[in-house]
Amino acid sequence: MQEHLLEEEHLMFQDAVRAFIAKEVTPYHEQWERDGQVSREVWLKGGAQGMLCMDFPEEYGGLGVKDFRYNAIVSQEFFKAGASGVGFFLHNDVMAPYFLEYFNEAQKKKYMSKIASGEMITAIAMTEPGTGSDLANIKTTAIKKGDHYVVNGAKTFITNGIMSDLVVVAVKTDPEQRHKGISLLLLERGMKGFTRGKNLDKIGMKAQDTAELFFEDVEVPVENLLGVEGQGFYYLMHNLAQERLALGVIAIGAVEGALEHTVQYCKDRQAFGRSIGKFQNSRFKLAEMKTEATILRTFVDQCIMELNDGKLTSEKAAMVKYWATDIQCKVVDQCLQLHGGYGYMTEYPIAKYYVDARVQKIYGGTNEIMKEIIGRSMGF
Ligand SMILES: Cc1cc2nc3c(=O)[nH]c(=O)nc-3n(C[C@H](O)[C@H](O)[C@H](O)COP(=O)(O)OP(=O)(O)OC[C@H]3O[C@@H](n4cnc5c(N)ncnc54)[C@H](O)[C@@H]3O)c2cc1C
Repeated sequence: MQEHLLEEEHLMFQDAVRAFIAKEVTPYHEQWERDGQVSREVWLKGGAQGMLCMDFPEEYGGLGVKDFRYNAIVSQEFFKAGASGVGFFLHNDVMAPYFLEYFNEAQKKKYMSKIASGEMITAIAMTEPGTGSDLANIKTTAIKKGDHYVVNGAKTFITNGIMSDLVVVAVKTDPEQRHKGISLLLLERGMKGFTRGKNLDKIGMKAQDTAELFFEDVEVPVENLLGVEGQGFYYLMHNLAQERLALGVIAIGAVEGALEHTVQYCKDRQAFGRSIGKFQNSRFKLAEMKTEATILRTFVDQCIMELNDGKLTSEKAAMVKYWATDIQCKVVDQCLQLHGGYGYMTEYPIAKYYVDARVQKIYGGTNEIMKEIIGRSMGF
C-alpha cells in the first residue's frame, strides 16, 4: 500500500511478512509447485507469526484488529514475490469474514483458534460441475432428517480443496427454491461420505491445490449450519465485496512484482550494443505500465480504506476486481514480451507471473459478471 496510508504497526507487520516469505516460502516454492500443494508447516508457521486471521479476537489467536490493511499486506507481498501457492489470502480475506460474522458461540470455541493457528485450513465450495456463475442453480442438496442434514452432490475447482480441514459448502436446503433455498454448511475432513477428487492440473498457480469435492449421503449435524437456514445466498453476496477487493490486491501485488523483474531485465539485457530498456519502445511500454500500476495502486488503496469504513459498495468491488485483473493480465503479457524468448522459460519469474495471472479474470465471479453488476447499478 502507499506508505502514507500505513501506520508504524503496519510497516513493522509488512517487514515481518517480507522476512517470512524470504525465509519460509520462496526457498520451498518450486518444490511445492512440483508437489501441487504447499506444506502444512508453512501454515503452522504463518499462524505462529500472526499472519492468519488477523481480525479474529485475541482470545482465539488473532490480532483483534479489524483492519483490511493487514490482509492486504499479506496478499500483496505473497503475490509480489510470485508465491501464489500459499492459500493464506483465501483463509484470511475470503473465509475469515464468514467465521467472524456467522459462527455461533459453540462454533467459535470449536474452530476459531485452530483456524487462526493454521492447524485447520479452510475453503469455500460454491462452484459445481454444472454451474458456476449461476450460483442460484446449484444442485447439491442438504435435506434435514432429525438432528442432521443429509448432503449429496459435488463441487469443483475448490481452492485449498485437497488441504482443507473445514469447508463452507453452499447447499440447497430447499431444492424447490433458487436463491432462498441456499444455506451454508460446515463440513469437516473425515466426515463419512465426504471425499475429494484429484488435485486438478492447472496451467498456473501450480502450488495451489484445487480440487473436486464429492458428497454421498454425508450426515452433517444441524449444529454445523452456518448462520440461518435459507440465508446462504445473502451471506455469499455480502462477503463477495471483500473477496473481490482481495483479488484486486493480488493483482497490484503481482503487477508490482512483475514490473520490478522487468525493469531489472531491461537494464541487464543487451541488444544492438545497448540495454534493451534504451529502445524507445521498451521505455514507452515501461512508462505506460508504471502509470497503470500507479493508478491501480491508488484505486485499490482507496477501496481498502472504503472497506475499512464500511463503505465499499458491491459495484465498486466489481470494478476493482474486473479492472485490476484486466490490467494484471495486460501488464504481465507486456513484461513477458520485453523478456523475449527468456520470458517463455519457466525458470524466469515473469513466466510464472504470466500463467498465474490468467485465472484472476475468471474466479471470484468472472469479469463479465462484474460488468453485469456494474451495468445493473447504472439502471440497466
Ligand atoms: C483456479 C480456480 C480456483 C477456484 N476456486 C474456487 C473456490 O475456491 N470456490 C468456488 O466455489 N469456486 C472456485 N472457482 C470457480 C470459479 O469461481 C468459477 O470457475 C467461475 O465463477 C466461473 O464459473 P464457471 O467456470 O462455471 O463458468 P460459467 O459460469 O459456465 O461461464 C462460462 C463463460 O460464460 C460467461 N457467462 C456466464 N454467465 C454470463 C452472463 N450472465 N453474462 C455474460 N457472460 C456470462 C462467463 O463470464 C464465462 O466467460 C475456482 C476456479 C478456478 C479456475
